[in-house]
Amino acid sequence: MRITKKVFVDLAIYMISLGVIVGVAFPFFCILIGVPRELAMRPFFRAACVLAGIVLGALNIVLARRIVGYRVNRLSQKMKHVEDILVARQTDGADQECNAESCLIEVDSEDELGDSARSFNQLVMTLSEVLATQTEVQLFSEMLASNLEVDVLADHALQRLVANLGASGGAILLEQGGDLKVVASLAIADSKVLAANARIIHTVNSMERQLVHFPSETALDGVIASFRPKELLIEPIVYKHVLLGVLVLASGSGFPGNAIDKITMFNPPLAMAFRNAITHGQMQQLAALDPLTGVYNRRFGNRRIQEELSRSVRSGTPLSLLILDIDHFKAVNDTYGHMSGDKVLVMVAQTVLGAIREGDVLVRYGGEEFLCVLPGASKHDVAAVAERIRVMVNNAVLKNADQELRVTVSVGTVSYPSDSIADVQQFIRLADEAMYEAKTTGRNRVVSL
Ligand code: GH3
Ligand code: MG
Ligand code: MG
Repeated sequence: MRITKKVFVDLAIYMISLGVIVGVAFPFFCILIGVPRELAMRPFFRAACVLAGIVLGALNIVLARRIVGYRVNRLSQKMKHVEDILVARQTDGADQECNAESCLIEVDSEDELGDSARSFNQLVMTLSEVLATQTEVQLFSEMLASNLEVDVLADHALQRLVANLGASGGAILLEQGGDLKVVASLAIADSKVLAANARIIHTVNSMERQLVHFPSETALDGVIASFRPKELLIEPIVYKHVLLGVLVLASGSGFPGNAIDKITMFNPPLAMAFRNAITHGQMQQLAALDPLTGVYNRRFGNRRIQEELSRSVRSGTPLSLLILDIDHFKAVNDTYGHMSGDKVLVMVAQTVLGAIREGDVLVRYGGEEFLCVLPGASKHDVAAVAERIRVMVNNAVLKNADQELRVTVSVGTVSYPSDSIADVQQFIRLADEAMYEAKTTGRNRVVSL
């Protein structure tokens, strides 16, 4: 029966009461074993017996406190320490380390106290493992949230995953236009052929994770990694039942036991981050494109001219602008209708795309006016490109129902370096002036400033 709320106070009361009872009963016991009654019943002897009982009870208490109390106290202090760490983590995010010395209890007995210490240690180790993984997942998610470009995101994510899962290398492949493309790779022998790997194709089709073990005697195709992998983890990156890509991790020594648990936790934020980055890229692209012709719009074009001009000023490389305007386009609309006019615009855009180089940028700058940015092109180069465009448009025919539509363009070009180009506005104005000169001097011609 509990008397107070403290175990050792309860124990003290019971021990001393027992001592008093033993002290009171002892003289009667003495009589039973033949000690003369007058001797055993002497007040001094009886008082001495009670006192001895009390002292014995008190000694028991001291011993219990020293032996049991010390160890219970140690257990409670470690528990308090672990509690403080958890509270600090909860309240101000402090991540104090919980090492064996500060948090674990020495197991030095094979009894209930030893069992308690062992269970406590197990609990602390499991908890610290869970918290460490939680911290890793949190840091990983924060990193994912701060990257919106697919390539940068893939690079950072792969580095973290390789480090956190104890891998030796890996790659991230994303589905782009129906094909798998490697967007990041680390210590992979030939990442370009990964998309054709049978195991990866299997994961793409089944959307299931594969953990492949390579026994040391197995001959490897040498494709996967630049080191000899012992294990390969192929993880599908799936968002809302749609496969976005595949994560491949290779380990030269085998993955740690908790790797599968970890990848299960890392996968959902990774898939969501890729979904966001892909959507962001598509939005960026949409925001930069002209919906009718699919070439860049004026807003994007102005930004590109600014970037390219800054680069040319820095590096001293030439930069040319070309502006072209369809001749008498209003008449095309008036004669054949607005929809046919739209088709002509698309045809002209496609024709110009076929006449420029890969690094050149075509922009729909106005209704029937296009601008082309040609990095690296000199005055001589751009004049040749402009003439090529003029001739190609002149020869192009749009077959619309039973009609054949032809248009011509007037082209103006301007090139940096030139004394008269101080800024972007002036650069564009000069190209525009050249184009107007082509208009006023007869149309279907090129004027280069
Ligand atoms: P010029 O040779 O002097 O350039 O004559 P133009 O008729 O081409 O020039 P103007 O500026 O008079 O007319 C441009 C026409 O382009 C008027 C406008 O309706 C048409 N236009 C602008 N945007 C579009 C479009 O998106 N689709 C169609 N079909 N027509 C457009
Ligand atoms: Mg025109
Ligand atoms: Mg015009």
